[in-house]
Amino acid sequence: MISSITWTFTGRYFRLSSLFPQNVEMRRLLPVKRVIKQEVDKVEHTAVKVMNLKMYIDGEWKETSEKRPTINPATGEIIGYAAEGNERHVEKAVAAARQAFESGVWSELSAAERATYLFKIADKLEESKEEIAKLETLDNGKTYREAEADVEDAAACFRYYAGLITKPDGQTYNVAAPMQAMVVREPIGVCGLIVPWNYPLLMSVWKMAPALAAGNTIVFKPSEVTPVTPTKLFEILEEVSLPKGVVNLVMGKGDVVGEALVRHKQVDKISFTGGTVTGKRIMRAAAENVTNVSLELGGKSPNVIFADADFDTAVDYALFGIYAGTGQICAAGSRILVEEEIYEKFIEKFVERAQKIKVGPGNNPESEMGPLVSQEHMEKVLTYIEVGKQEGAKLVCGGKKLTEDSLKKGFFVEPTVFADVKPDMRIVQEEIFGPVVTVQKFKGEKEAIKLANDTAYGLAGSVFTNDGAKALRVIKKIRAGITWVNTYHFTFNEAPWGGYKQSGIGRGLGTFGLEEFQEVKQININLDVTPIGWFEN
Ligand code: NAD
Repeated sequence: MISSITWTFTGRYFRLSSLFPQNVEMRRLLPVKRVIKQEVDKVEHTAVKVMNLKMYIDGEWKETSEKRPTINPATGEIIGYAAEGNERHVEKAVAAARQAFESGVWSELSAAERATYLFKIADKLEESKEEIAKLETLDNGKTYREAEADVEDAAACFRYYAGLITKPDGQTYNVAAPMQAMVVREPIGVCGLIVPWNYPLLMSVWKMAPALAAGNTIVFKPSEVTPVTPTKLFEILEEVSLPKGVVNLVMGKGDVVGEALVRHKQVDKISFTGGTVTGKRIMRAAAENVTNVSLELGGKSPNVIFADADFDTAVDYALFGIYAGTGQICAAGSRILVEEEIYEKFIEKFVERAQKIKVGPGNNPESEMGPLVSQEHMEKVLTYIEVGKQEGAKLVCGGKKLTEDSLKKGFFVEPTVFADVKPDMRIVQEEIFGPVVTVQKFKGEKEAIKLANDTAYGLAGSVFTNDGAKALRVIKKIRAGITWVNTYHFTFNEAPWGGYKQSGIGRGLGTFGLEEFQEVKQININLDVTPIGWFEN
């Protein structure tokens, strides 16, 4: 639940004003509430409103004694406080989801009845599009146009699964008489859904829509960095009157709340999206109970540009591939590979255009690229830029935090380009997850493929060429789950999303995404009910 609260000021206070610009309405002073590790100081008493985000367990909004601040990355100011859960909250949420699942209130509805709820959720998302998009911009930092597209995609995803679940499924087999064999699909049970901060709403929906369509009950954990739109989504889930316990929201630290969810014996499925390091940890933890896991992890995706490509289109999509979402997209085209004949020309044009990208707060319609999500993440990205310089890569564009007055309190980093990189450099091998791209030179198809596949990741990849056969030859050799020819980033609810190698296990979206949340049962029926006579006596 998102409610505005006015904190009552008693006792000691944290001084937060130094973090904020002077004129913003959300600048405020906050009472001591245990989790916030800020400077404790005596300050004047000013009553201000912030968002108060609660958890949702067994059909009720739950307050916690500990709260975690959530920050607007464009300004560094605190915009709200989210519930900080612990293992006990996970226990309650899983028990509620289990009870709801066993009771059949959701799983035993007809597919068409469940679809009715999903259609209503989609309608409500659309009705609140502007409000949700503004909240997303405020909490995650992405530009309003990116946030608006996310809400539209989220509504479309619910509609897609509402439609899909009512379509034929299962199989029958022509086997030896008198048997009849068939296969039915069933919900898995209680699903733990864990998502990152880069698409707080959309990643939630990519998991929730198929999980609910299939008849599962869920315990959902958003990233502690971006709890706002997931909470808003739960308000909508409450408004459509889903049966009690079917959807549960827990919040808090990954290694506390997330880990408790993954290790819980009563959780039948974990669907995780996040970093590869966390994914490995989750896989190890899930092994304890042989819990079914799907993992959507990181990437370091190649964007291969041949000399015969339409040059302006290739440059344009290469910019879109890396700088959309401030480079905080798992499938970002963070390694550009350019055929040697056009390498210099490409870098010149790419840098010229990268330097013109308007970086600014997501709520400014002029902004084309927003801030990074948090101070911590910005520091990680800036550290990678230093690593690149130390490794001897040529910094040809950007590389710095923006320091002009209106942006200096936010987490803005310039669009950054490294050229003349070597394949074994860390900035080529590791996911930076920011507006930082490396450009490499290659000679011919064979080398392009070799370099494209030369990381531990295998999420996405793209090829730009006007030779259709070459495009397909190269794409077929790229070890990645999501690929494009002469375009970048487009994806559809109908098509599977996921990676090869260390980019994950399983697929989201499409029919594949639904199957991730279904068990498959074989049923064999004897049509001649007489003894088999295997034993004589
Ligand atoms: P992260 O791995 O740090 O966290 C993701 C989620 O996992 C958060 O909710 C976090 O609280 C939780 N978590 C952390 N430790 C946990 C643990 N031990 N047990 C259970 N849960 C735990 O990732 P992030 O920094 O939030 O997101 C960025 C990463 O997500 C990038 O690597 C990006 O590539 C990846 N990503 C992948 C996809 C995809 O579809 N493949 C999509 C979006 C983001």
